[in-house]
Amino acid sequence: MTEVRVRFPPSPTGYLHIGGARTALMNWLYARKTGGKLILRIEDTDAERSTRESIDGILDGLTWLGLDWDEGPYFQTDFAADHLAAADRLLQSGHAYKCFCTKEELDRKRQALLAAKQDIRYDGTCRELTPEQIAAKEQQGLPFVVRFKVPRQSGTVAYDDRVLGRIERRYDDIEDFVIVRSNGKPLYLLCNVVDDIRDRISHVIRGQDHMSNTTRQVLLYEALGAPVPVFVHMPLTLDQQKRKISKRSHGEIVAVQFYRDHGFIPWALCNFLILLGWNPGTEQEIFSREELIEAFSLERIGKVNSVFNYRKDDPKFFTDPKAISINAHYLHTMPIEELGQLVKQDFQAQGLWDDAYDQDRRDWYLSTLDLIRGRFHTTKDFATMGRAYFADDYTIEQKPLKKNILKHPDLRTWLPMLAQRFAALDTFDQQSAETAARELAAELGVKPGIIINGMRTVLTGQLAGPGMFDILVALGRDRVIDRLKNIDGLYTTSEA
Ligand code: GLU
Repeated sequence: MTEVRVRFPPSPTGYLHIGGARTALMNWLYARKTGGKLILRIEDTDAERSTRESIDGILDGLTWLGLDWDEGPYFQTDFAADHLAAADRLLQSGHAYKCFCTKEELDRKRQALLAAKQDIRYDGTCRELTPEQIAAKEQQGLPFVVRFKVPRQSGTVAYDDRVLGRIERRYDDIEDFVIVRSNGKPLYLLCNVVDDIRDRISHVIRGQDHMSNTTRQVLLYEALGAPVPVFVHMPLTLDQQKRKISKRSHGEIVAVQFYRDHGFIPWALCNFLILLGWNPGTEQEIFSREELIEAFSLERIGKVNSVFNYRKDDPKFFTDPKAISINAHYLHTMPIEELGQLVKQDFQAQGLWDDAYDQDRRDWYLSTLDLIRGRFHTTKDFATMGRAYFADDYTIEQKPLKKNILKHPDLRTWLPMLAQRFAALDTFDQQSAETAARELAAELGVKPGIIINGMRTVLTGQLAGPGMFDILVALGRDRVIDRLKNIDGLYTTSEA
């Protein structure tokens, strides 16, 4: 069996789109599953639209996702000579010809076809020029493009798509397409094939949006005498209205960078993306890397387009709810050391990091993350909803402030009293703190819930969270006492 060699060949004209990331992921999975190679090729032939920034963004995005490649990045522009040599070979072998038709002539013919309601197609004027006619035109210095000579006998060009089955297209449905422009620059369609031949690509796994190219590319492979790779066309990812998802209409949520900036765990995003266009044939949705490599097969790539749920109207779901729930699953279950690393990066960026978290406070740091992660969806939540554990400048949310603090003005004296009791305890742990709080409530003749909810709000700013007495221990006696003593500020700020 020939070696599996797959490729990811992005055009660096923008950001890494989640659809592109999904393509990269499928190729990566197939390479890892088969022990093959993944080749990264930057298709930068369109010099005007390609940018260094975009290349860096794509490489960073792939690296962040953990999708490593085995060869490359190769740059298409480094192989310009190969592309032109291939065009020459096609001219020499009679599979292509020089076309001297001017833009004006072509436009005129196109208009006429349009008026006659006929298919718009090049009429083959230059197809049968004699060598003398060509030489004469060249001598006059007339510009020309190079066109591929599509067979004109009846028949079809065909390939067996691994997902969609046999795909056929009649020759007379394909016009003699341009492979080199009049400025001497080869077209993408040709470059892509020449590079895939040179890189010995065995499987081309890409979106169905490329299918209109594939039949023409099969003609190129055949004319260049190269083996045709296995084609695998994946369904597209659309929104609920069946529109392509793009930054213009959907905003940042279509870019991999967005997920990185919003506290996604890289593999969780991969896990979400694979379900858009592939199914395991079981109910399983969560796959570790190893499990997914094991389970992956080209045959289970879907045929129909998948839906990316776009919920701009609902701020709670800042992207597809499934993506968020998969991310939360990883956040809640991943090894705490790994989570510690991810949160560290975020804390460093936010100025919340303390080097002691890597040293003598390491156990405290990790156990606190573990204590609070159960309600969080992204790593960003640690610095926002979990801020009170790591800094004193946390926000008291409006809802608990009204419900648990402002409605009970007596807490203004009760919580400082509780602080005094905490200060007097021999040892400060869950049990002793709970006993002290309940005793105080009993003495005051109030429901312990009022004290406990008030305390939760003052100490964490949140309506809900871990068990109250676990919170006390995580925060430590000094911070608890300080915050409870200073409850007054909450009333005065709200009165102001
Ligand atoms: N450069 C093309 C793109 O970014 C790749 C097409 C292909 O996979 O052959 O869409």
